[in-house]
Amino acid sequence: MTATYDGIIIGAGPAGSSAAILLARAGWSVALLEAKAFPRRKVCGECIAASNLPLLEVLGVGAEIRRRAGPELRRVALWRGGERISAPLPAHTDRHPWGYALGRESLDALLLARARSSGAGRRAHPTERRTCSLSRPTSSTPGSRRGFWPYWLSPAAMAAWS
Ligand SMILES: Cc1cc2nc3c(=O)[nH]c(=O)nc-3n(C[C@H](O)[C@H](O)[C@H](O)COP(=O)(O)OP(=O)(O)OC[C@H]3O[C@@H](n4cnc5c(N)ncnc54)[C@H](O)[C@@H]3O)c2cc1C
Repeated sequence: MTATYDGIIIGAGPAGSSAAILLARAGWSVALLEAKAFPRRKVCGECIAASNLPLLEVLGVGAEIRRRAGPELRRVALWRGGERISAPLPAHTDRHPWGYALGRESLDALLLARARSSGAGRRAHPTERRTCSLSRPTSSTPGSRRGFWPYWLSPAAMAAWS
């Protein structure tokens, strides 16, 4: 099985899904490959800094993030044993003064859903999410049970994992 794309992105975390959204909007056909089933947990402090909110607005997920997130992050604190020091956080900008906290099972699934909807219907090859391993085929890799590898051809590939 061979599919050809303008770009292949490996990893559907925030970096990969954001890139997929912007490339699909620019008219690229994009394959977005992800090893794990979403939504998935990810170890993270889950803080979305206020400086990221303008980009999340552009990506089309700003309003949904604000709806799902906890309260605005207005203070920072450090604990040591029973002691605590805390201070107010400075407001970032008038439009986006405060950050938020949102679990990665929500944030990443939201961005992936937006990536898929950005590609669908615009190009012959919509943005896809496929199971893929760079090192070895898995039982869930399309085609591997029939003894052959799927091929995705592209002049551009992005490794999007930390
Ligand atoms: C303890 C901790 C706390 C943190 N707290 C914060 C915080 O509060 N706020 C903040 O902004 N950042 C925080 N970070 C950093 C944040 O987690 C990363 O910056 C962010 O996850 C990077 O996103 P990414 O899309 O580059 O990679 P990732 O989020 O790692 O996503 C990569 C994706 O690629 C997939 N993948 C990997 N290999 C393959 C493969 N071979 N084939 C297919 N798919 C593959 C993975 O399954 C994964 O879904 C924290 C990090 C840690 C470790």
